Amino acid sequence: MTEESKDLHSIQELKGVGPKSTTSLNNLGIFNIPDAAFHLPFRYEDRSFITPISSANYQTPVLIEGEIMKSTVVFRGRRMLFSEIYDGTGKLTMRMFNFAMAQHKALEKGKMIRCYGNITPGPNGKQMIHPQYQVFGKEDSIEVEKNLTPIYPTTSGMQQNKLKKIIEDALIYCDENNLLKEESENKDYSEFGNLLETLKFLHKPPVETNLYELIEGKHPAQQKLIKEELVAHMLCAGILKNELEGRKGPSMVKNSSYEKDFFDSLPFNLTNSQRKVWDEIRDDMLAMVPMRRLLQGDVGSGKTIVGALASLHAKSNDWQTAMLCPTEILAEQHFTSFSDWFESLGIKVSLLTGSTKAKDKALLIRELAEGNIDILIGTHAIFQQGIKFKNLGLTIIDEQHRFGVHQRFSMLEKGGETNQSPHQLIMTATPIPRTLAMTVYGSLETSIIDELPPGRNPVQTSSRPDKLREKVIKRVEEVCSTGKRAYWVCTLIEDSDELEAQSAEELYKEISNSLPKVKVGLVHGRLKKDQKDSVIENFRNGDIQLLVCTTVIEVGVDVPEATLMIIENPERLGLSQLHQLRGRVGRKANTDSHCLLLYKEPLSGLAEERIKTMEETNDGFKIAEKDLELRGAGDIYGIRQSGLMDLKIANPIRDSNLLLVAQEEAIELSRNEQGFAKTLVDRWIGNRVDYSDS
Ligand code: ADP
Ligand code: MG
Repeated sequence: MTEESKDLHSIQELKGVGPKSTTSLNNLGIFNIPDAAFHLPFRYEDRSFITPISSANYQTPVLIEGEIMKSTVVFRGRRMLFSEIYDGTGKLTMRMFNFAMAQHKALEKGKMIRCYGNITPGPNGKQMIHPQYQVFGKEDSIEVEKNLTPIYPTTSGMQQNKLKKIIEDALIYCDENNLLKEESENKDYSEFGNLLETLKFLHKPPVETNLYELIEGKHPAQQKLIKEELVAHMLCAGILKNELEGRKGPSMVKNSSYEKDFFDSLPFNLTNSQRKVWDEIRDDMLAMVPMRRLLQGDVGSGKTIVGALASLHAKSNDWQTAMLCPTEILAEQHFTSFSDWFESLGIKVSLLTGSTKAKDKALLIRELAEGNIDILIGTHAIFQQGIKFKNLGLTIIDEQHRFGVHQRFSMLEKGGETNQSPHQLIMTATPIPRTLAMTVYGSLETSIIDELPPGRNPVQTSSRPDKLREKVIKRVEEVCSTGKRAYWVCTLIEDSDELEAQSAEELYKEISNSLPKVKVGLVHGRLKKDQKDSVIENFRNGDIQLLVCTTVIEVGVDVPEATLMIIENPERLGLSQLHQLRGRVGRKANTDSHCLLLYKEPLSGLAEERIKTMEETNDGFKIAEKDLELRGAGDIYGIRQSGLMDLKIANPIRDSNLLLVAQEEAIELSRNEQGFAKTLVDRWIGNRVDYSDS
């Protein structure tokens, strides 16, 4: 979200939305008014008709209406409020445990009441426990809802009714300001009109709408939106592709002794998979067209070496390499590895991150422009305007899902000559299901490393409820006493560095106290770079045995002696993220490693299923698919965390039936209706950037 788009149609322009609601809305991914219009119900209730009490059954929630015969508060172990309701056909008891005295007073004998909820069998016949209700006078007539009632995914600090009102206002605002109304010239969307009309429909479907279809995401109105969103993402991928097609790539046909020297210095041989993908990449680099290749390989499969080989090949042909990393820790890690590997070969590797000092940066900029730096490794800092290469021939992007399309794009402008594009190698451990890859990347070629280096035993994952904490702490002590090392990862639901740092510090105190014999260290995102570095260095060399940390270590930290990881509150993280985290252990040949998921009870069904998946499989590909499948109703947090891509409505697994039509439409639009194509991309993707941490 850029500053610009934050201010435009800011959510605060709606009545009743102040700073506090804004925070909650932001947590739901709602930043501006159109975002609110896109926040769709995850289920609907039918409150359009009143069911006689006598014919109401126990299976489905119902709306009933009747007269209050009496209301009493009784003590039966705890305080309870009973109201007896009679509608001429039957009697029903409303029962509440949490209530204010004012509520008791309002539920006055002789008043009318309307309740919506599930009926259960009770001691005095039919009952409803804590239904939603509305009290009114006998002379008042209130209407039933004319539409299905939307129920939205929400978050703490934002009540359902308030959210509903905000969304209603957002739709009116969009109407008045002519937002989301542009339509394609050719497409016949007449059934629902333009996008705004479709959204309105889904926020308030008429009662006769097929509820089953709506729940399954199969209603034509939903299908239209899903298709549109997929088209937008495909266009975006396509735009990048078109941009590339006009350009030549740096053909790198020369071989030098670097590669052999490098192999000779390595203490191990490449795996067959690594060899195979390196061949594919080198073939691409020989060609005159810019390579666009996605290198997929599970955590620990050894992608870095392959990237290193590519940069070496670029150097052999006198081209520079840029390697982009999503976090400083990862950039530093790679910088250390590359320096170790390449220093003796006389290759100059440099590091640029947000922490690089101004003086060093000035020098680096000069050296880079003069071509004295062969490989530049860094974070987002590399995107800065002043950073120019003399002859950039290769861009390597590690853990790509964290960079936005626009950022990938901006790297094309750093190569020096305008009619040339550097080769792009994108490396990711988050396996992207084929269907999704097609959506995100269009025609990107894929290489897969499908084996781990020899001797690696899969990480054994199991879960423990928090009440077994003491035992888990003992286990850490045992592991550390044998010279091995452990991580203890602290997670936080809020997107706040500060809170996260705080709870990591508390955890650090707790663990240090209970384990006086173990040397414990702490890293979190709030620490200064030198502090972080020295803690990780001490962990690496064994001066620290247990590292209490936040998810900052998710990518990059490579300490093979670490064989145990505790993840606290794993239910807060998406599956792919958990998998990535646990990939920090199990990095040493012929050594067993363990990951313990320490969860708080009770777990929701979804959380339980996630944890089960982690215990059952180590296959990153399966995990990614499961991740997509489980992102369901109301699971906003999971969606944002999955990091795969920012989809509002579509789910490429559930909606795979639409991928082909969407692709055809994307091609058609990019050929014949470029104006509308751009509208779609702006509408669904806009300036969104996936991630930033520089
Ligand atoms: P990832 O694919 O997760 O980025 P890395 O590139 O960080 O994995 O590699 C993980 C570890 O495996 C590193 O310590 C690396 O040196 C080591 N490694 C890579 N390839 C091999 C190999 N062929 N044999 C043995 N160890 C290897
Ligand atoms: Mg890696």
